[in-house]
Amino acid sequence: MSKPVEVSIVLPIYNEEKNIKELHSRITKVMQELGREYEIIAVDDGSSDSSFDVLRELHQKDSRLIAIKFRRNFGQTAAMSAGFNHAKGNIIISMDSDLQNDPVDIPRLIDKLEEGYDLVSGWRADRKDKFLSRRLPSILANKLIVRMTGVDIHDFGCSLKAYRKEVTDNIHLYGEMHRFIPALAKWVGAEIAEIKVEHHARKYGKSKYGISRTTRVILDLITIKFLLTFSTRPIQIFGKMGIISGGIGFIICLYLSIGKIFFPSEATSLTKRMPMLLLGILLILVGVQFISMGLLGEVMVRTYHESQRKPIYFIREKLDNNDEE
Ligand code: UDP
Ligand code: MG
Repeated sequence: MSKPVEVSIVLPIYNEEKNIKELHSRITKVMQELGREYEIIAVDDGSSDSSFDVLRELHQKDSRLIAIKFRRNFGQTAAMSAGFNHAKGNIIISMDSDLQNDPVDIPRLIDKLEEGYDLVSGWRADRKDKFLSRRLPSILANKLIVRMTGVDIHDFGCSLKAYRKEVTDNIHLYGEMHRFIPALAKWVGAEIAEIKVEHHARKYGKSKYGISRTTRVILDLITIKFLLTFSTRPIQIFGKMGIISGGIGFIICLYLSIGKIFFPSEATSLTKRMPMLLLGILLILVGVQFISMGLLGEVMVRTYHESQRKPIYFIREKLDNNDEE
């Protein structure tokens, strides 16, 4: 029986056939120099190229490489989540599989983690991507995320990170939430650090994302902000908005009613007051909606916390010599 795994390296892979071999050999070199027991968990996120064939071939030679293939493309977040769920090490490293992140940084991430942090995030200080379409939106997004989540790091988008197992066990990823792992980790009480890491331009294959991710990031950010602050008390935020809106609507309608009943002779022709009346009714209705949403939210929060959690992916096959079945 081999020694227990200490470090698990999680690789989300989507159409990276040309990168996998070199990545594998670079990781192997770094990890062997480090001298820790490790495993590589490669998750093929439904690639349409030969990525999984390459993984199969590598797996035959290297039993430290565990390969998982999704039934279809579930997205980078799901791929990372699958890797986390199958990791056996107490330290987990995630990184991109396109050679943009460099395995040489892994030992430094681990050292920092062992200074007593739960999550160490890479910071691509010298990022090799296009400025206008990639780096500028990223700088703005990072500023916004820091503001909203209170996690003070420079580069949420960097996949190269080290985590303690407790962190990955306790955060549940949905949608495209992998970018917000530090924020989610903070939510479960993790100590977070950041170190500068290498970054290279992509040599083979194409980036899987374009500028369209901006809107997705913003929507995810709203979700995160909500999760971080109000997820256990939704009535507190929706109820407040409901009371404000309903209250203003009520005052408007009251004012109109008083005018109608007590001063009918004044210039109260209905047509003139119509916009006010509509506004009043609208605000009351919206207020009622908000409060009902808050109450529904309260019910859902309870269901969420009390029901069992289901995985967000389906695995087609898993190559793992240690799995006897
Ligand atoms: N990836 C994935 N599933 C997807 C999209 C991307 O597993 O649906 C992987 C991809 O293979 C790479 C990493 O996630 O290893 C980061 O993707 P990419 O390099 O395209 O992002 P960028 O570096 O351009 O932000
Ligand atoms: Mg990349």
